[in-house]
Amino acid sequence: MKFVSTRDPYTIVSFTQALFKGLAPDGGLYHPVEKPNLTDLLNRLDPQIPFIEIATRLTSELLGEEVSLESAGRICRKAFTFSPVLRATGDSIYILELFHGPSCAFKDFGASFLASSMEEFLQKEDRKAVILTATSGDTGSAVARAFHGKENIHVVILYPSGRVSTLQEKQLTTLGGNVIALEVKGSFDDCQKMVKQAFVDPDLCEKLTLTSANSINLGRLLPQSFYYVYAYSRVEKLDKKLYFVVPSGNFGNLTAGVLAWSWGLPVDGFIAATNRNDVVPQYLTTGIFTPRASIQTYSNAMDVGNPSNFERLKAIFNDDWKEMQSLIHGEVVTDEDTLKTISRVYREKHLFLDPHTAVGYLASERLLKRIGEGDDSVVVTLATAHPGKFLEVVEKATGVKPELPPTLKEALDLPKKSIPMGNKVEELKEFLLDTFL
Ligand SMILES: *Cc1c(COP(=O)(O)O)cnc(C)c1O
Repeated sequence: MKFVSTRDPYTIVSFTQALFKGLAPDGGLYHPVEKPNLTDLLNRLDPQIPFIEIATRLTSELLGEEVSLESAGRICRKAFTFSPVLRATGDSIYILELFHGPSCAFKDFGASFLASSMEEFLQKEDRKAVILTATSGDTGSAVARAFHGKENIHVVILYPSGRVSTLQEKQLTTLGGNVIALEVKGSFDDCQKMVKQAFVDPDLCEKLTLTSANSINLGRLLPQSFYYVYAYSRVEKLDKKLYFVVPSGNFGNLTAGVLAWSWGLPVDGFIAATNRNDVVPQYLTTGIFTPRASIQTYSNAMDVGNPSNFERLKAIFNDDWKEMQSLIHGEVVTDEDTLKTISRVYREKHLFLDPHTAVGYLASERLLKRIGEGDDSVVVTLATAHPGKFLEVVEKATGVKPELPPTLKEALDLPKKSIPMGNKVEELKEFLLDTFL
């Protein structure tokens, strides 16, 4: 597989290049040039096949030009020390739990694969890299956990002092080893600006290999297609229509599923489920894409007003709105309905949903109504975070406090280690050169 920028179809790059570049130089997102046909591979999946095996086969099939089967096995074994879990809820709705990784959210799949493939390539070439990233709380922890203990890689995370939750801060600052947390006296925007300036600083770029682990990195997108195939392997024998419902913000998760479909995964439809930040559902209805400032909701990891992966989605459909609309349907869920859904599902099924998954769950129920409840359909709702990560909202809805996941509980008891820093890039630059040169 080769890749091009969504804004330039002529400059072709390899997976390794896309992996270490992150964003294309023209500001576009890297995207596969061709659509491989995986029908043979998909037809040979056993319903008990472990997730690692699926991941390894797909990695090798997709990236075979650059990654040997042995290498693919090593990358996936190191990355996926956890697996998705497909849970039936008693009717046509299945929940694909993607929160059994180290930071208890689906972003672990992308971050872990990114980290192990970078480690694999760096070790092979005996190179070192510094991952530099800014976080407003949540995404940083998936990255920190994924890169912790990796050879040849250091991770520097900038976060705004006093503006992340205690739990988030503990997740960022208690790992130690190759993960350094910089506690910036400033806002998240300051952190992001410092990181951006560092990336274009000629002196830094010459002396260090600076890399981002941004959510738009291809190394995070591709592995997210693996769990769609996993879910398919579990329900294929039922021989029913298959729908995926994806709680969405930046639309990386949905894009990965649609990619899998474009490679031959037999999916009958996708639901783009959003909170009130609904620019993509709007586009699906009207054909007009109008980015706007995001508004705050309970499902805050989906508070995105200008989703970056929309460019990739459009590329899959050659910018044909009608084509996209025939596969993807939008559903918008308000905060009020999110709370009601968490509360009702807890009462009726004794199941805790986090606010993001609740958006997806209600969208699944609406889909079933729309297609006539159909016994001939399976609706897989992606559960993107552990309910224990969103204690306040879940408690507000159910009156009950869900358990914190064990990996998060452990972090709470460890001592915080952070390096205080001002909000100017000069200070960051000095720190990076002193530490890594
Ligand atoms: C990031 C995130 C989402 C949104 O995923 P996208 O790929 O950005 O659409 C949904 N739920 C949770 C819990 C998340 O962390």
